[in-house]
Amino acid sequence: MPADIRIVPCLTDNFGYLVHDPATGATASIDAPEAGPLIAALDKEGWKLTDILVTHHHGDHVGGIAALKAKYQCRVHAPHDANAKIADVDVRLQEGDFVRIGDLTVRVLETPGHTLDHISYVFEDDRALFAADTLFSIGCGRVFEGTYPMMWESLLKLRALPDDFRLYCGHEYTASNVKFALGIEPGNAALQARAKQVETLRAEGKPTIPVTLGEEKQANVFLRADVPSVADAVGLSGSPAADVFGELRERKNNG
Ligand SMILES: [Zn+2]
Repeated sequence: MPADIRIVPCLTDNFGYLVHDPATGATASIDAPEAGPLIAALDKEGWKLTDILVTHHHGDHVGGIAALKAKYQCRVHAPHDANAKIADVDVRLQEGDFVRIGDLTVRVLETPGHTLDHISYVFEDDRALFAADTLFSIGCGRVFEGTYPMMWESLLKLRALPDDFRLYCGHEYTASNVKFALGIEPGNAALQARAKQVETLRAEGKPTIPVTLGEEKQANVFLRADVPSVADAVGLSGSPAADVFGELRERKNNG
């Protein structure tokens, strides 16, 4: 049975997500940016939270865990805490682990760079990728704890997933990302198409998520650091892709 996925806007620009298994009633929250909106969404659907799948330790992803756990006694799954502690964790996850949410199977991918503990969650049967602050639509997370080569490897791991997977990311940053990407690749037709779509969605007050990975591979300049024309555009023809990626990330940081 396909999962029911709900987008729950939280805080200023975070996306909370609920993934519900209709066969068993199990419901997971991907991260817990804020308890209030997630509880309201659960109440509206008549769902009970059974699991929280945490991607990384930042406060805007874990701030709602304690309140949700107190209310629902749900299981909290999270990455290792080698560099930063996440409280109230029941299960520690690493690369290749599988989590069961009712009848749904979730695969864990380690995607470090934004933080060293960052993991992403893949719902294989539902073709859904929850990439939090590693991969945004037309963007990627800032590299706070890792290195540019490390983050580039993480993006390559996500890029290797099939085109029909849908990306659910941690923040609504798409419009700002589109503006930056058009500065690097003004002639990219896929990016131009995405720009139009994003403008329409935002004007209607709708989220720009989900989007297919196939579209992102064509339009997201941060997934295209190994395309020669992108290296040319930042003056790094012939340089390693990780260096081109680092230059793109620096320019976005300073933009
Ligand atoms: Zn973060």
